[in-house]
Amino acid sequence: MTTEQYPCPNFINGEWSTPDVANFNPVYNPSTGEQISAAPMCDADIVNAAVEAADGAFHDWWQTPPVERIRILFRYKLLLEDKFEELAQSVTREHGKTLQEARGDVRRGIEVVEYACAVTELLKGECLENIARGIDCELQRQPVGICAGICPYNFPALVPMWMYPLAIACGNTFILKPSEKVPLTSIRLIELLEQAGLPKGVLNIVHGGRECVDAILTHPKVNAISFVGSSPVAKYIFETGTQHGKRVQAAGGAKNFVVIMPDAEIPKAVDGMVDSAFGCAGQRCMAGSTAITIGKAADSFIPEMAAAAKALKVGPTDRTPAGQLGAVISPEHRDRIKSLIEQGEAEGADIVVDGRTVSVPDYPEGFYLGPTILDKVQTNMKVHNDEVFGPVLNVIRADDMEQALHVANTCSFGNGCCIYTRSGQLAREFKHRVKAGMVGINVGIPAPMAYFPFSGWDYSFFGDLHIQGREAIYFYTRSKVTTTRWFSQGEGDIWHKDK
Ligand code: NAD
Repeated sequence: MTTEQYPCPNFINGEWSTPDVANFNPVYNPSTGEQISAAPMCDADIVNAAVEAADGAFHDWWQTPPVERIRILFRYKLLLEDKFEELAQSVTREHGKTLQEARGDVRRGIEVVEYACAVTELLKGECLENIARGIDCELQRQPVGICAGICPYNFPALVPMWMYPLAIACGNTFILKPSEKVPLTSIRLIELLEQAGLPKGVLNIVHGGRECVDAILTHPKVNAISFVGSSPVAKYIFETGTQHGKRVQAAGGAKNFVVIMPDAEIPKAVDGMVDSAFGCAGQRCMAGSTAITIGKAADSFIPEMAAAAKALKVGPTDRTPAGQLGAVISPEHRDRIKSLIEQGEAEGADIVVDGRTVSVPDYPEGFYLGPTILDKVQTNMKVHNDEVFGPVLNVIRADDMEQALHVANTCSFGNGCCIYTRSGQLAREFKHRVKAGMVGINVGIPAPMAYFPFSGWDYSFFGDLHIQGREAIYFYTRSKVTTTRWFSQGEGDIWHKDK
């Protein structure tokens, strides 16, 4: 084990140190199966120390002019570019996604930093003169205070960067709780932020699991919580956080449907779907996990999709080109996915491509699973109703778009839905009627860029203001509305007097 090589310290009040705790969570390189680090499972006392540091730093940071905060973020952006490949390698190492995918993870995160650099514009308030004679009204945005971010394992760079760059740009201080499965990229990201000149205490990292999260959720000084993870935990975070008086945005899991109309350009739909269903080994909240083929679209889509899936090379991720499939996060997760496939088969689905028996001889201990396609999936099957979060594509056959909309709109999740068609009229109707917050038209993964909200609905999101875009600015600030009247030597309306 090389945990010394990849230490996993907390960062509190500008100090890096590994706490003396009883439990550590192993961190693996999923490509090789080797343990590479261990995340300390921190308790309420350690969380309290981080909150005190954030509290101590808040006033000065809030008073720091936004343009000065941005100068730090500009330096940060340059450092991130400079260390881009190193960060991508770190993502690959602890997550198991391919290097190509890891580069995307880091790039999309940097785009949030770029967006945060526009905060002088984004933070501007509103003003209206003469709401009544001689009275003006002004709205300004102030930081909410101490914010915390609780992250999932599947985007080790992007998801933390969804949160802290915008939060600190708005003048808040922050506590980051990375996933205990992939804590190492976060550490490197924050080392670079420290190097860019962030004052101590403005951003703190605490590692851990439920105990640590509960301490954040119930701490009286924490004002706002951003969460990304599975839906049951998102619901718990939202309920517990709001019960304790906090503002919460909690993004959860998903089932994303991709409708393949008979008039679709099938080769392009297949290209899009290979990445959508199997990219990052299916461990994406925007993965296109179910294709709904309409009528005869199935005749060409399914065989072409099967051929494309079989052509993917399963293997280690740090040295393979694009068009490959990396590992999943853990052996337990691989077994869970396998059992969902088995259950789907037992419930009557046809296995068109079976990834369960894949072997990677050079890395027999790696957590690999091949691409799998299940055809004739029904809406009462477990593999349909649970988020699989693996390289598994369900195919549901439907007669028309009405049936497809029924399947998508009766699903409890509401993240993404896509349609492949040549018909503008059908696409427009689909976009209008589908019950999902992010829609793709001839686009397989409609994940919004940094300047739009990541707009999940229903069981995919708990809260009001989403992550990213202007909604994030509103989430990380609160508005203050000031109504002003000035008297002229006690006489009132000088304008009319002067006239
Ligand atoms: P997870 O819910 O298991 O863990 C997320 C975070 O919550 C981790 O930091 C973990 O330590 C903490 N946690 C776990 N169980 C907890 C509990 N009982 N109480 C308090 N805290 C707890 O999620 P994961 O497996 O790390 O990530 C995968 C999930 O994240 C998938 O469901 C995926 O769809 C979702 N996700 C959603 C989005 C989105 O934008 N909607 C983006 C990325 C990932």
